[in-house]
Amino acid sequence: MRKFFIYFTPILICYAVGILSWYIQSDALVEWYPTIIKSPLTPPPIVFTIAWSIIYILMGLSLGTMLVRGDVSMLKLWIFQLLLNFLWSVLFFALRSPLLGFICILTLDVAVFTYIILTIGRRPAAGWLFAPYFLWLLFATYLNGYTYSHYKPTNPAATMNNSTITSQFVLPALAYDTSAFGTALSKESFDYHYGKHFKAYIDNTNRLIVGTPYASMGLEDIVKSSEGALLNNSAQALNHRIYFEGLTPTPKGIPKELQQRIIDTFGSTENFVQQFTDTATSLFGSGWVWLAEDKDGNLLIISTKDADNPIRHNLNPLMCIDVWEHAYYIDYRNRRADFAKSYINLIDWDKAQARSNF
Ligand code: MN
Repeated sequence: MRKFFIYFTPILICYAVGILSWYIQSDALVEWYPTIIKSPLTPPPIVFTIAWSIIYILMGLSLGTMLVRGDVSMLKLWIFQLLLNFLWSVLFFALRSPLLGFICILTLDVAVFTYIILTIGRRPAAGWLFAPYFLWLLFATYLNGYTYSHYKPTNPAATMNNSTITSQFVLPALAYDTSAFGTALSKESFDYHYGKHFKAYIDNTNRLIVGTPYASMGLEDIVKSSEGALLNNSAQALNHRIYFEGLTPTPKGIPKELQQRIIDTFGSTENFVQQFTDTATSLFGSGWVWLAEDKDGNLLIISTKDADNPIRHNLNPLMCIDVWEHAYYIDYRNRRADFAKSYINLIDWDKAQARSNF
């Protein structure tokens, strides 16, 4: 039991510092992230979250391994590096100084490297447990340096002045008359879904990017690099753009090349339709079902939760169905399967082909 606490306490301390750092960073991260994401070595955000957790557990275990043998010689150095780690968040993110942050993280590199070298001499296991943190730190140093050299601060006075706010994204005009779909999709459903929901996502996106580097980015780049409220709203704006663009009251067949790819992948067009509508019907909660292609041109049906879009998974969306309740409740009430079955007959397949890179 005592052993458990000796391991558990350092892990808990690491996590507490991590969460506090995250809290300090979250505000500024919106500002830095567009710069960070442009670095050629940046992985998708999910990698950070997973790596962060694993590394902090290993850091805690490293000290636990020392302490459980009654060796407290490295305790001060361990606490010192943790304080430097926290100080880096304060300087880089809270004070928004990439230069001071960079100096701090270089000092941290030295402290951590020293910890590892000294620890490996005494307790090799504890030293090696700390090594992943050092690798991560070198990467963070690179990102810090990249941000330091590439970040151009926006002038808050200019961007926050109401007279200079120009909304970047506009509600796209529809290529069809919203009463042309009859009972399959009523004009009233368009009034709400297009006129209110879609519009709100665009308005919110415009509101959230004011005064941030996102203001100069395209919608897809915002979706790829943002988090939180901006991700939710920008991704929903993109999803709805693909959704409404991909509809037509006068559907024609699937263009030959795309139809052949569908047959090659799913066996037949009928199989594809069945699989697509089944996926739309069985997706639990709110989300989207997509026909997407990977970088090699392979087709696949995927579902995404809430606002998520295939471009965040390195896939190119060709067409989609919105299975949020707001998409079908006016015309179909709770009958999502009926909605999916009639929706699949209203796809503008020329648009899907046009979105394809193949
Ligand atoms: Mn919707």
